[in-house]
Amino acid sequence: VTAGYSLPASMRAAVVKDGAFAIREVPVPSPAAGDLLVKVEAASLCGTDLRILRAGHRKMPAGTERVLGHEFAGVVVKASPAAGDLFGKRVAVAPNIGCGECHLCRRGLTNLCPDYQALGIGLDGAFAQYVRVPAEAVSQGNVVPLPDELSWDAGALNEPLSCVIRGLEATGMKPGESVLIFGAGPIGLMFLRLARLLGAGQVILVQRSASRRELAPAGGADLLLDFGEDGGERMQEAVLETTGNRGVDVAIVAAPVAEAQTAALKLLAVGGRLNLFGGLPPGRSLTQMDANLIHYRELVVTGTTGQTVAQYRRGLDLQARGLRLDDLITARYPLQAFGEALAAAADKTGLKVMVNPNQ
Ligand SMILES: [Zn+2]
Ligand SMILES: [Zn+2]
Repeated sequence: VTAGYSLPASMRAAVVKDGAFAIREVPVPSPAAGDLLVKVEAASLCGTDLRILRAGHRKMPAGTERVLGHEFAGVVVKASPAAGDLFGKRVAVAPNIGCGECHLCRRGLTNLCPDYQALGIGLDGAFAQYVRVPAEAVSQGNVVPLPDELSWDAGALNEPLSCVIRGLEATGMKPGESVLIFGAGPIGLMFLRLARLLGAGQVILVQRSASRRELAPAGGADLLLDFGEDGGERMQEAVLETTGNRGVDVAIVAAPVAEAQTAALKLLAVGGRLNLFGGLPPGRSLTQMDANLIHYRELVVTGTTGQTVAQYRRGLDLQARGLRLDDLITARYPLQAFGEALAAAADKTGLKVMVNPNQ
């Protein structure tokens, strides 16, 4: 017997097809054995959503109709007994679901599974009133009760936060170390906060657009620099000057910009670690890095993508212990205004844009 509230037969959803979207009335998904149905209480827009609308996605062949939205939280309104005791719970959901069987999934690296599925990409996501969460996600621990003290917004923002956790963990940042972050959008500012929480020393932010530099001071970097139009020359001088010519221990490139990657490597101190957090546009992913810097300074270059379930859960723990993200939200829209929400996310004068399908 499936536990469930009585629900309407149809719901509002933003359905994307071939780069365009329409707000439509569609059937409420019916969960199979082991699945959950989650009523979406908060969902946030991500650069990935904008990219899918612009350029498509390999998991969405031409003609595919899909509901996007992979950063969300809500309440479980339907659950079969096989789904455990999640019925009625407030939950946040890690959207990436591994096959559960390959050698990567068995090591917990579901983010690298070649057969992964993702809510809001290969499966319908959260820009709808209800989302079906498949049994595999439930059994792999992707559905996490939201601690009482955390808001729906915090639950939604936990997805990008957990990607940031993976990125910073890859650098092995230790307390007192200096950190240089390229990109002061929501991701860059999450890196800044996480680094601070974990005891970073000096933190330097580099951001090209003036509008985002204006939003960044709230984040509390020690130094906020413009990348500049000179290939980053003046910016690099400023970083070296402020670090006593040593360079930084950790650099994060959270911007899809090859020249930021080149500059980041040059600015690492001996033993420094670089995380390439942002991918580069397809066809433009060749980047220049001086191999002798890596060799003679014993640098480590890492890349990360997505998050593991363990990191997703760690994100909620950190937020419950006081890591605050809600002030990164600069706009909110009901689902009916999905187009305006997309425009607000694309114009980069703000930070995080929320969509609430049940308003
Ligand atoms: Zn995202
Ligand atoms: Zn797998």
